[in-house]
Amino acid sequence: MSKPAERRKFSWARQRSSGVAERLLANRILSSSLRPRTLRNLLNRAASFFSPLYCTPPATHLKPSQGSNAPLTKAPFFCILSFPTPHPEPHTLNPEFDILIVGAGFAGAVLAERLASRLDRRCTVIDRRDHVGGNAFDRRDGAGVLIHPYGPHYFRTNSSRIVEYLSRFTDWHPVEYRVLSYAGGRHWQFPINLNTFEQLLGRPSTPEEMEATLAQWRAPIENPKNSEEVILSKVGPRLYEMFFKNYTRKQWRRDPKDLDPSVCARIPIRTNRDDRYLSEKFQALPKDGYAAMFRRMLDHPNIDLRLGVDFRDIRNTAKWKHLVYTGPLDEYFGHRFGPLPYRTLHFELETLPREFSQPAVQVNYPGDEPFTRVVEIKHATGQKIPVTTIVREYPDDYGPGKEPYYPIPAPDARALHARYAALAAREPGTSFVGRLATYRYHNMDQTVAMALAEFGRLRATWLTPGLSSRPSPGHPEKREWPA
Ligand code: FAD
Ligand code: UDP
Repeated sequence: MSKPAERRKFSWARQRSSGVAERLLANRILSSSLRPRTLRNLLNRAASFFSPLYCTPPATHLKPSQGSNAPLTKAPFFCILSFPTPHPEPHTLNPEFDILIVGAGFAGAVLAERLASRLDRRCTVIDRRDHVGGNAFDRRDGAGVLIHPYGPHYFRTNSSRIVEYLSRFTDWHPVEYRVLSYAGGRHWQFPINLNTFEQLLGRPSTPEEMEATLAQWRAPIENPKNSEEVILSKVGPRLYEMFFKNYTRKQWRRDPKDLDPSVCARIPIRTNRDDRYLSEKFQALPKDGYAAMFRRMLDHPNIDLRLGVDFRDIRNTAKWKHLVYTGPLDEYFGHRFGPLPYRTLHFELETLPREFSQPAVQVNYPGDEPFTRVVEIKHATGQKIPVTTIVREYPDDYGPGKEPYYPIPAPDARALHARYAALAAREPGTSFVGRLATYRYHNMDQTVAMALAEFGRLRATWLTPGLSSRPSPGHPEKREWPA
């Protein structure tokens, strides 16, 4: 392995390991073909059996007096191979790192990658989960099936700039996502298109006939003000009741009347035979999966990745010159105006001993079932394996200990968000980026675009003489930028 690659792969370990024996061990690992996680497990086991020198340190090895400013010293029983695991002692954040990035999802990873590689800034990226990728993370389950554990993530975009940017870290597996809706005891082509119309009629039809029929069914609403009106104005009450009303109520626990038009307007209505769920011109999945793409983005000597670290545990002690925050906005401000509303999800996984379980990657359930959709992502990943895993999605009320998956696009939530957004605009030395920090129902490409725009803004600020970044409130010295 080349020197730079070695440096990148083991930068974290090297910060903590000055001993010759440890370096030798690291070199052995570098020349091995085993995956780091496998090696770590093997060596941790062997080391804890043969020698007390290489075992994971108990949390007590960091003295309380060391605090966040303590240099990274090697604890006597520190295992140099523990870098991919969650980091239990957040107080060991490297004080030499300039930028603290909270969240290793799209927003955090894009900014870390840009700041590290283009501006040569040293970034510490933390995430309270034990993996990179945020909600886009994918993994193999116990049966070896590649799954999207936080709901299906269909990458799509109309922006060639975003495809170009992400293509530095991944090749693509082109996909056309096809979805069915299960209503009245049968599968329907969905989103509504000419094939669906023919299913309704029970005979062949034409785009002209479908357009003429919809013109009769449509409610005469010129400027739809909510999600009910938007669908009624396109297809009328029959199809609205059949496919949208109850699904939306289950998903949001709100009547479609109480949601922005943009929610249901996400679903296209077509009078041709285009039966793809999405309309964007680029639709694909990262060829080796999202997690691999994120690992490549974050694999840079200027990036120090710490998983299993919650910002709330370090914000009063850690130092930074600039903060990039991608977590929930209300949480950042201690919920001072009350909690922002979110919807959460509960995922139920089922592995089955057959190649496929359902006829499409996603089947929507607008009926009385407690779940909204069943996803068999294997249809999209193209993985060849004789077993399959389906994931049922149950929407749920958000509360403590749950993940805030969806901001709620509705006027009342927006009004509360505006109060937090006003605080965010005044917060010095901090960028609020991403779906949770800006409380927007954004797709992945929109999140990437937002992060790239914020990078451009920071670069312009920092590289323009006379403009200094605002000092961070968590930084006791309140140093100016650039140092
Ligand atoms: P996230 O991915 O949420 O990442 C934020 C990270 O910050 C998380 O990992 C979290 O653990 C971490 N964090 C939060 N608070 C703290 C803290 N205090 N300390 C440390 N870490 C913290 N988009 C599409 O384009 N196509 C799709 O098909 C699609 N499907 C989706 C399905 C579901 C069920 C959901 C919920 C979203 C879907 N999206 C989809 C949207 C997509 O997930 C987002 O656009 C994207 O992941 C947003 O990235 P982010 O970095 O803003 O947020
Ligand atoms: N929707 C619906 N019926 C469906 C699919 C979607 O009523 O069969 C509505 C629902 O309100 C949903 C919104 O359209 O929240 C957007 O759907 P999408 O599949 O884009 O949701 P996401 O993947 O973002 O959860």
